[in-house]
Amino acid sequence: MDILLSTLNYLIYSASILFFLVVSWKSFRERNIRAGIVSVLFSLLPVLLCYFFHEWLYFSFTGPLILLVLIIVPGSKYRNDLCLPAERFDERDITFARYRLKAGSENYSSYYEKNPEKEESDSRTRALPGLLAEKSKYFHKLNSSAADASFFLLHQLKDSVDGPVAEQNGNYTAEQISDYIHSMAVDDGASIYGTALIKPEHYYSHKGRGTDSYGKEIPIKHRYAIVLGSEMRSSNTATAPLSPEVVETGKRYVDCAVWAVQTASFIRSLGYSARAHIDGNYQVIPPLVANEAGLGGFGWSSLFLTKKYGPRVRYSVVTTDLELPQGGKQVDFLSFCNICRKCATCCPSRAINQERLEKLNADRCFMYWNAVGTDCGRCLAVCPMGHPWGILKTLALRSIIAARLLKGLDDLFYGRKPRSLPMPQWMENTQ
Ligand code: SF4
Ligand code: SF4
Repeated sequence: MDILLSTLNYLIYSASILFFLVVSWKSFRERNIRAGIVSVLFSLLPVLLCYFFHEWLYFSFTGPLILLVLIIVPGSKYRNDLCLPAERFDERDITFARYRLKAGSENYSSYYEKNPEKEESDSRTRALPGLLAEKSKYFHKLNSSAADASFFLLHQLKDSVDGPVAEQNGNYTAEQISDYIHSMAVDDGASIYGTALIKPEHYYSHKGRGTDSYGKEIPIKHRYAIVLGSEMRSSNTATAPLSPEVVETGKRYVDCAVWAVQTASFIRSLGYSARAHIDGNYQVIPPLVANEAGLGGFGWSSLFLTKKYGPRVRYSVVTTDLELPQGGKQVDFLSFCNICRKCATCCPSRAINQERLEKLNADRCFMYWNAVGTDCGRCLAVCPMGHPWGILKTLALRSIIAARLLKGLDDLFYGRKPRSLPMPQWMENTQ
């Protein structure tokens, strides 16, 4: 019995040492020195305890064990249906589409005739320096040019999202093709991959951006979808709202746009219709499709969160008539979010309500982007679900005790209001 108890004891302490060492390694890799140092100290704690209080600790596995039992007891469940529209959304209503309306144009007049309440605040946003613009607060010449280069490439890809469908060829089943596409995506480096059945409300109702004419009704063409996601590296997002964040955004949008255009073309070459949906040329709303695919769920910030990367992911989608597996269950993040609310605390524009769960105020957020010249991203950077907490994140979604533990640790390691990391040295040198 003694041997069993002491083995259990050492297993528990070894697991905790390993856990904090992994957190520290990941934190240093992401240039987060504070989190790295605190986690090294935490990993040393069991070693010091064992060294100084060896006899006492011999049977002390019960403490961690009780904690373990407590944190696997399920807590309350929430569903975040706030971000799930009951009907199709008109792309002309999104801030990006409204921002592009030119005063005096026919589209401008017809839009604001129908939506007069939006004209004043949209005009105020247009009067700001603008995203990546020289007079904006965090303008950095080379970083802005780098981000611009990514958006240039995305613009070039906009015309390649669809194309002619070949005759069906080969004797492959839909399942074989689907498995091949999945493996190809993983091989290409996609961080997130999923498939889903498309619902009508996943499609925008009318075009507001992209290559189709403004205001054109969007037909629901496909029943199946592939979601491709590219992780945004936290070493760059942690500088938010500084310009490395927007450089990272552009690059990750390019990754998933290239994968989507390539995948859609591949599917068409096998005789099935397919269209890529990439930044600036969507017909579907990627977070809704990712949600349907069971890749995560919506958080307090209204952003789509995954368990592994939190909100630090950019997405593209391929819709097709190739039969694909349907998705999984939505992940409930709100039980944790309800305790956390860090995105709301840290949002510089107060676009996320701190007191109650409501949809992100996208106009307020976008106005801030146009003032500072980057896509801000503080809500991505500070989210504990985007930090390397491994299994603790899964536990925090199940139990209130684990949720409080994770929130406490995250505050300790990263700060209640984490400071933005400085830019990487190679960017700083060219400021
Ligand atoms: S920062 Fe906290 S409250 Fe906000 S989305 Fe992330 S987990 Fe939820
Ligand atoms: S909601 Fe907008 S302004 Fe607020 S933290 Fe997120 S990106 Fe920044």
